[in-house]
Amino acid sequence: MREGIPMFIRPHTLSLITTHRCTAACDHCCFGCTPDIPMSRSIPVERMRGLIDEAATMPSMKVVVFTGGECFLFGRDLVELVRHATERGLATRCVTNGYWARTRKAARKRLGELREAGLGELNLSTGSFHARYVPAERIVHAAAVAAELGLGTLVNAEVYAESDFDIDAITEHEELAGHIRSGRLRVQRNVWMTNDWGEQEISHDDRASRFREENKTGCDTVLNVLTVTPDQDLVACCGLTQELIPELHLGSVADRPLTEVVERTPDDFLKIWIHVEGPERVLEFVKRHVPDYELPTDSVHPCQTCLHLHRDETARRVLREHYRSEEDRVTDLYLAGIASQAVRNRTLPAFSTAEN
Ligand code: SF4
Ligand code: SF4
Repeated sequence: MREGIPMFIRPHTLSLITTHRCTAACDHCCFGCTPDIPMSRSIPVERMRGLIDEAATMPSMKVVVFTGGECFLFGRDLVELVRHATERGLATRCVTNGYWARTRKAARKRLGELREAGLGELNLSTGSFHARYVPAERIVHAAAVAAELGLGTLVNAEVYAESDFDIDAITEHEELAGHIRSGRLRVQRNVWMTNDWGEQEISHDDRASRFREENKTGCDTVLNVLTVTPDQDLVACCGLTQELIPELHLGSVADRPLTEVVERTPDDFLKIWIHVEGPERVLEFVKRHVPDYELPTDSVHPCQTCLHLHRDETARRVLREHYRSEEDRVTDLYLAGIASQAVRNRTLPAFSTAEN
């Protein structure tokens, strides 16, 4: 929107949506992944190696995330990609539905290889929709083995009102409870967002509304996480609706280095604003200019609000016409955030002397 703002994109994470193919077909999956999608809807393995190399040249980059779809479908290639990222000095995380953990032995084999290649974290997705394809027992196997191997392990469970998922089977499982107490395993519940292609109608508690004061937060991932889609588009966040918001797409990295696409990204105040204050507060700004504007108060996820914000003509018009009144305030907050992050990231000596 404004020329001349130094946009200081300092991504710390490269998220590779390795493929849209998945072993499951969860209702309302954000990318519509299913087993019917061919493996050709994937980022070619050689390109993933190149993207890791390019990301490693960015001083702010710290982590590579392998997600999907189901990244474990890459088998030995996934192990070698983790090794490649590790050798480039980047931490690694895999996000999976755990289908491969049929037994403890199977889990030890898959995770042992990945651990040896340098894998640092494992995120497991589960819940009622997931469990129709991957029994929760496999999540227990995968989480137990991952924690045993010293991986930072996170279980993410869907939340919606009608869910009958027995989260206690994980949190109170004798072995897993020990790992939770020791901090090796975390379990968190995430609002399951609906979309146009999901079938089952689901609802959420009123407290989930993103427009409740306590839920209005800035978006941590926009400008901090760069995502590459299976079509090799570079995206400025790793949001659930990012594939539906053209404004978040920075360009193709099929034939151009990721760093070049980032460097050519024009300044965009809206991304900075979403980062600092979140899409709900941006829409509240719209309402201040159009008092009868209806806020999407049934939104339960920031990416749901964000999709509304980008698609809504009134919101877009008001932002185009009036954003300048917020520009200095929001830009200052953004720059202050970057500065404090830079200070937090510095390793300071305990004492400073003339010699050091
Ligand atoms: S496991 Fe994840 S990627 Fe696969 S269908 Fe379910 S939500 Fe989508
Ligand atoms: S809120 Fe918007 S910018 Fe942030 S992650 Fe979701 S889709 Fe991306």
